[in-house]
Order: sequence, then C-alpha cells, then structure tokens
Amino acid sequence: MKIVINGIHANLRFSAAHMIPKHEFCGGIHGHSYHVDVVVEGERSGEFGFVADFKTVKSIAKEICSKLDHKVLIPVESPDINFNSDDPYKEHSIKFKISDKGYVLPSEDCYLLPLKSTSAEELAEFFAKNIFESLKKTNEKLSSVQICINEGIGQGAYYTINK
Ligand SMILES: [Zn+2]
Repeated sequence: MKIVINGIHANLRFSAAHMIPKHEFCGGIHGHSYHVDVVVEGERSGEFGFVADFKTVKSIAKEICSKLDHKVLIPVESPDINFNSDDPYKEHSIKFKISDKGYVLPSEDCYLLPLKSTSAEELAEFFAKNIFESLKKTNEKLSSVQICINEGIGQGAYYTINK
C-alpha cells in the first residue's frame, strides 16, 4: 500500500536559487518555488496499521526543505564548476567559476549539495535517498520512496528508490 503527501497542500516547499551550468536559458542564477511530493510504499504494520506515519514523513521531508529554503544551491560535484578552494564548505565566501563567469557568494546564503547538478532530477534523487534512509530506521516494512521535485506548478522530476 502507498501513502501520498502532496507538497503544495502539506507545505513541503522551499524557495531557492540555482543555475544549470552551460545551459542556454538556465545557466544564469535564477529561482524556483519548489514543492515536494512524497509517496511511501510498504506493508502496513505496527499498532495502527500504517504504511508510515504521515507526521514522521512530513517532518523528515520538511527538515530537508528547511535546509535548502532561501539558499543558493551549489552542486559541489559538478564537473563544470571550478572552486577556488579545495574545501568550499569551510570558507566564509564561496568562490567559483563557471566557464569565464566568476562568482563570489557568502557561505551563509548557500547550501552545498553533494551532487553533480541541482536539476529537479538530481534534487529528487537527493530527497528520495535521504528520506528513505531516515524512514527505514524505524520502518522495516518500507519498500520504496518516490519523490517528485516540482520546480513550479505542473513541472517536476520523479525519482524512486526501492529497498
Ligand atoms: Zn532552474
């Protein structure tokens, strides 16, 4: 059985800026008001016969949304971003270049993600893996977590992680 949490109605939302290096239209810094849909599948279990407790799933997803909210999302594994420092996590300012464009941003305004890109596809995988790992600690009957990262109304990327 599945439970579904609709991000726009359940307030699993965040607003963030990003860029897709080398992309003709998305290469410049721009923003999205994201919302995150979550589908959890598994056997019903426990005292209440839940697939998973809605409150638990929402709080895990909300925590990730909060970390990303009002930040510039930087994919540190990107082959197209050249960081000035070996360890951009430790600097007060994050300095990098994408092709011939130079960026200097305050670290506190950025969230560095261990990803190759901050596309909706990569963010969906990031959310799915993190939520799956957190949920499986307390839910042995979990079989999959599916995430849809919506970059706005009507366009999103799905990623499913299976047990
Ligand atoms: Zn974008």
